[in-house]
Amino acid sequence: MKVELNLQLFGPLPARRVSKTSKRMRRTHLKKEAPTVVKCANCGAAVAPHRACTKCGFYKGKEVLKQNKDEE
Ligand SMILES: [Zn+2]
Repeated sequence: MKVELNLQLFGPLPARRVSKTSKRMRRTHLKKEAPTVVKCANCGAAVAPHRACTKCGFYKGKEVLKQNKDEE
């Protein structure tokens, strides 16, 4: 007795199995990268580029964020 597999019962499936090598080659790009940090020109803390320093509030040599810890 010949058993026929009715492919219409399944949804769209990949035509063939992806080899170990192909899978691993694809996944070489799936990696967590270390965030880019630059040194603050004012205080030297590690800061995200193109953003005001979270430690001293300086950006491009000017204070753009007021730190409210010294007030009162
Ligand atoms: Zn700073």
